[in-house]
Amino acid sequence: MARISREYVRLALAIGQHDKDYVDAYYGPEDLRKEAESAKLTLETIGRSVSQLSEWIEGAPATGNDELTHLRHQYLEKQIAAMGARVRMLNGERLSFDEESKALYDAVAPTYPEAHFQEVLDRLVKRFPGSGSLVERYDAWRRAFVIPRDRLDTVFQAAIGACRERTLAHVTLPSTEHFTVEYVTNKSWSGYNWYQGGFRSLIQVNTDLPIYIDRAIDLACHEGYPGHHVYNALLEQHLVKDRGWIEFTVYPLFSPQSLIAEGTANYGIEVAFPGHERVEFERTKLFPLAGLDPARAADYYEVMALVDQLSYAGNEAARRYIDGTIDREAATAWLERYALMPHDRAAQRVRFFDQYRSYVINYNYGKDLARKYIESRGGTADHPDRRWREFETLLSSPRLPSGLR
Ligand SMILES: [Zn+2]
Repeated sequence: MARISREYVRLALAIGQHDKDYVDAYYGPEDLRKEAESAKLTLETIGRSVSQLSEWIEGAPATGNDELTHLRHQYLEKQIAAMGARVRMLNGERLSFDEESKALYDAVAPTYPEAHFQEVLDRLVKRFPGSGSLVERYDAWRRAFVIPRDRLDTVFQAAIGACRERTLAHVTLPSTEHFTVEYVTNKSWSGYNWYQGGFRSLIQVNTDLPIYIDRAIDLACHEGYPGHHVYNALLEQHLVKDRGWIEFTVYPLFSPQSLIAEGTANYGIEVAFPGHERVEFERTKLFPLAGLDPARAADYYEVMALVDQLSYAGNEAARRYIDGTIDREAATAWLERYALMPHDRAAQRVRFFDQYRSYVINYNYGKDLARKYIESRGGTADHPDRRWREFETLLSSPRLPSGLR
């Protein structure tokens, strides 16, 4: 297995030479990084080596009773298969949206018709009566909840502090873990966690578009605690340091691992702030820090809960756009109408589709799969301690998306 995991790292880094988004994080042996940079393997050579690696892993079945060892084996099989699919895509192979998400993320998200979203939109129309399009009325109302630029860092630091405190009350993290925030522009995403190894993360927040108050907790939880930063730190501690499994020092973005990463990062928000605790914290802490009216916090989150039910509309737009049944303009218009995104945000989202394609399902479908899995193991909202325990176990193990169902 040592040979297989080293080869896996070598090939992931080699693909990274052709695809700048592929290697999301790497903190393994430096000689492998240098080798990838100097060898500059062709996609053809990489493709052949990935096929060979698939044969190696199939020929080395896991033995014994250790659950993690079996999970590791299944995980590597699927990760290597996804690697092969990504190489074929880089070589020009076209997959449909669902074929691609199956090949890369080990999952196919459910499809919903327009009527599904229209029901939610009808409720929002009642909440925002008047003339003009619904998205315009919603956008105008929402402007009162933008965090002023000069208060952004104060609000974010307060959100990060609270998410961290709540996470550390349940999850044991290495004492040296550390997390830095940077503000950037001109990106297709709104936030990003760059894990650097050694239990350190760099979080970048994109300030191209107005940042609403709900992004503070969302980003702090998703990118930080108990999301990506915690996930990466737990994998590094339990799988890399404790077990010496170096394949976990590389994180190939277009792989099943991303569904687990994004799904748990999103689900972690309600784990850290169950029930009314979120609104309570926003009303008493974040709204005052942002200079917003605390009396409007409950109303704001009622509307956001409704808008959240439109999340799969983003998948529909992406599916049609990637499958070529609608063009850029139509995808933007779809997002404005069914996902209630103002024009600029919808256009930014379509640029995200260009860059990340079926990756979009990892956020909402990943979250739903993570929640169902943890609830099926007794980690329900009524049993918060159990829920944290199951959450931590999931973050510390190489479980696959198909293993959540
Ligand atoms: Zn993420």
